[in-house]
Amino acid sequence: MQPRDVAGTGETVLWTCTGVGFMMFGRTRVRLVRGDITHQETDAVVNAANSSLMGGGGVDGAIHGAGGPAILSECMEIRRTRYPEGLPTGEAVITGGGDLRARHVIHTVGPVWRGGGSDEERLLAAAYRNSLRVAQENGLKTIAFPSISTGAYGYPVEKAARTALSAVEGFIEENPFLDEVVFVLFSEGDYEAYSRALTELW
Ligand code: ADP
Repeated sequence: MQPRDVAGTGETVLWTCTGVGFMMFGRTRVRLVRGDITHQETDAVVNAANSSLMGGGGVDGAIHGAGGPAILSECMEIRRTRYPEGLPTGEAVITGGGDLRARHVIHTVGPVWRGGGSDEERLLAAAYRNSLRVAQENGLKTIAFPSISTGAYGYPVEKAARTALSAVEGFIEENPFLDEVVFVLFSEGDYEAYSRALTELW
């Protein structure tokens, strides 16, 4: 299985055993691409936020940087009205996409890796599932995820990839409303880890 350049996009896409560059989970197409989540044109992109919802580094910084101040002001309103203590780990909320190509941003908080004995796997799966539930509640059909928790939060990427793909597959099986889920992997190493998990699991 060889990744292949997609003309003009600067992304690579995994040609899976389907031979057509994606995998079907029921009626939902699941794609892995190497790239930058702020460039995606899906209905929503998911932000690997922190509880404060006030921005940060990594994906969070890239989304707020490219999306502009409208996203932050909606986040501030969500903090004021719904989550004065911050968004709990594993939960998800939605804002507009500001200047991004995606119309919406779904903000979720993944777990910090503390060695594996602190409920990390359940919380990571919850972050994916709750993001998809928010997409469903808002009638969205396409969504792009980054590799939640595997940057500053230190979650080992091989484990995270398996949990992410299983959580998404499980949710899609129960709620077959999505046309497409894209995993946008920033580094070659992350892309390879997700590719391996996909072929191992299916
Ligand atoms: P967390 O705090 O949940 O670990 P990070 O944003 O620090 O989130 O990192 C999550 C993953 O996202 C890391 O693998 C990181 O390399 C990747 N990443 C960073 N910037 C981007 C981006 N612009 N698009 C997609 N993925 C990104």
